[in-house]
Amino acid sequence: MRLILLGPPGAGKGTQAQRLVQQQRIVHLSTGDMLRAAVAAGTPVGLRAKAIMDRGELVPDEVVVAIIADRIDQPDAKRGFVLDGFPRTVPQAKALDRLLAERGLKLDGVIELKVDEGILLKRIETRVAEMTARGEKLRADDNPEVLKGRLAAYRVQTAPLADHYASLGQLKSVDGMAPIDAVTAAIDAFLSPAAKAKPTARKPSRAKAKKPKAKVAKARAGQARSRGRRRLPAAGAKARKTGRKVSRPAGAKNKAGQRKLRSRRRLTKAR
Ligand code: AMP
Repeated sequence: MRLILLGPPGAGKGTQAQRLVQQQRIVHLSTGDMLRAAVAAGTPVGLRAKAIMDRGELVPDEVVVAIIADRIDQPDAKRGFVLDGFPRTVPQAKALDRLLAERGLKLDGVIELKVDEGILLKRIETRVAEMTARGEKLRADDNPEVLKGRLAAYRVQTAPLADHYASLGQLKSVDGMAPIDAVTAAIDAFLSPAAKAKPTARKPSRAKAKKPKAKVAKARAGQARSRGRRRLPAAGAKARKTGRKVSRPAGAKNKAGQRKLRSRRRLTKAR
């Protein structure tokens, strides 16, 4: 199964992605996580991305498209994946369409988590205040000012993706402000009809597996042959071996005939 989770930062994409990973046994591909790992490892991509990410702006399309192209070819992504934070621009979405088409793959759905930006801002302000009170380290982009910039970037650059996927008939919108379990249930409801519509994806059970017609006819002919062989009298078997023709005595072909034959033999003996 190949899915995209669409929604602004803080909408709960990461949480829902983790649930989909467990449920569908697919991998979670978050470009944000991959870029943060690149920054931490000090790779050339990481060095290039760090300042951009700290400002809450978007890393150039070609950088993230190259990361995704490489990642979906890894063996663990063969069963499927849920994309979180990618695509984020229409050119990224078109690049993804191309990447999938080149590999003969298709998307099973795009799930949009619809949220209220005002409530999101309040949530992050509370979280930042709680983390600061506990003396915990904050992400450089984890503050209300940067979040405002990221939400604005989402509105301008990412929100138009909803139209792109709606025009392809792939968009499903869910109320992202609902409790986490309710969001999961809404996503499940979207995915289960898709799963039912593809019975070929399931392995047919042995009991139900049907043999092709030609095979059935061949098997029946074989059974009939072996039944016929078992019913042949010993004399017939001998005849097959010797090549001589053995005929049954006249009248021995049915029960009445056999009775007549037996009484004729008794008469002959008595004489
Ligand atoms: P996220 O964890 O998805 O919110 O991403 C954190 C940051 O990584 C974003 O603010 C961007 O700077 C960068 N980033 C992640 N994904 C993308 C993407 N698809 N395109 C451009 N920049 C991205």
